[in-house]
Amino acid sequence: MAVPKKATSPSRKGKRRAGQHHKLYRKHPISCPNCGDFTLPHSVCPSCGTFKGMEVIKIKVAEEEASSESEA
Ligand SMILES: [Zn+2]
Repeated sequence: MAVPKKATSPSRKGKRRAGQHHKLYRKHPISCPNCGDFTLPHSVCPSCGTFKGMEVIKIKVAEEEASSESEA
């Protein structure tokens, strides 16, 4: 039976477990094919509301523009 030559140090063990944790919770942003803004894969783009070329969510743009113009 294969036996490890050296014991795994607490530091090494912690690094390994941290790596698995980062893999689980990492975010991989991609650019939206419609608007080019950053979005998460397999999800609706929050800035233009499209998914796979179809408009899924209607995003209110006029109100946001009006509010930003009044502020500036
Ligand atoms: Zn988009």
